[in-house]
Amino acid sequence: FDMFVLAFVERLFRPTYKKDDIVLGKKLGGGAFGVVYRGSLVKKPSSKDGEIVVKKATEYGAVEIWMNERVRRACANSCADFMYGFLETSAKKGSEYWLIWKFEGESTLADLVQSKEFPYNVEALILDKVQDMPKGIERENRIIQTIMGQLLFALDSLHSTGIVHRDIKPQNIIFSEESRTFKIIDLGAATDLRVGINYIPKEFLLDPRYSAPEQYIMSTQTPSAPSAPVATALSPVLWQLNLPDRFDIYSTGLIFMQMAFPGLRSDSALIQFNRQLKRCDYDLIAWRETVEPRAGAELRRGFELLDLDGGIGWELLTSMVRYKARQRPSAKAALAHPYFDKEGLLVLSFTQ
Ligand code: ADP
Ligand code: MG
Repeated sequence: FDMFVLAFVERLFRPTYKKDDIVLGKKLGGGAFGVVYRGSLVKKPSSKDGEIVVKKATEYGAVEIWMNERVRRACANSCADFMYGFLETSAKKGSEYWLIWKFEGESTLADLVQSKEFPYNVEALILDKVQDMPKGIERENRIIQTIMGQLLFALDSLHSTGIVHRDIKPQNIIFSEESRTFKIIDLGAATDLRVGINYIPKEFLLDPRYSAPEQYIMSTQTPSAPSAPVATALSPVLWQLNLPDRFDIYSTGLIFMQMAFPGLRSDSALIQFNRQLKRCDYDLIAWRETVEPRAGAELRRGFELLDLDGGIGWELLTSMVRYKARQRPSAKAALAHPYFDKEGLLVLSFTQ
């Protein structure tokens, strides 16, 4: 069967929605490019409870709908379950894109990491009963390992589809209560290199706290936004040349850091860390050498956690947070790292 026919048939039989089918609830977030609400469907779909999330977006909504449609077909489990997107035009507000997802759950990774209970709060969400192991860095390391494994697994399927997210951060990772795994959300800054959608990097959309040092994801030498047929032929080559996926790997490395070091979890601490790292020419090993001698108990505990099992956690982290994109592993290579020793991991629920 032709993929195109399948996609067409899928769209034909999927339920569609309009404004009047939706009751908007409380606001969940909002930036310069859109506002996000909780909501519910007036007519509940048979299998689901009808709890949804709605994003009303400006001009970038079109790209976000396109990305979500693509993810739905190519790697559904790695991102929040997208239901439908449409353009709503009113005399008062002009045109707005409406995007609808299934409500995946109450907590983002940001909410969970900010809690004093982290990472045990995540363990409780993933497992039915607590592990037969005393609390301490070894157990915490296992939980963090599991979270990292789920994030990299989701990223690998996104990257294998040709999509680079470009805004990976704890706020854009939702815990799906149904699948008991973390899923990626917010494809508003994403780029699909295989078809040239959103090809020109929109640097202003990027979050500086989690951004890799390279300003442009694709080298400025590469031709500007090619038309679709050209891009399809060209982009695998561009991908190999520029390795744009490694931008997301750097951001994921910073999430790893924040999970290991409680002292780096606040915005101000992360910004300060970024400044320190820049001063060390983005050399994490040099950074460690400057901070470790005068480190407090909290920082020392983070190093201790990463140093477990001969320092394989530290080894993985330093490979991800590197100045040169080329020296960072792909998501697939990171998953094959010995840090993800299968014995140590909790349930992975790697359903795909
Ligand atoms: P933006 O960052 O552009 O405001 P997001 O897509 O990141 O928009 O959504 C904003 C917030 O809404 C998220 O941080 C999360 O708390 C919540 N959210 C988004 N999608 C979902 C979903 N499918 N299920 C539950 N909560 C969601
Ligand atoms: Mg977001």
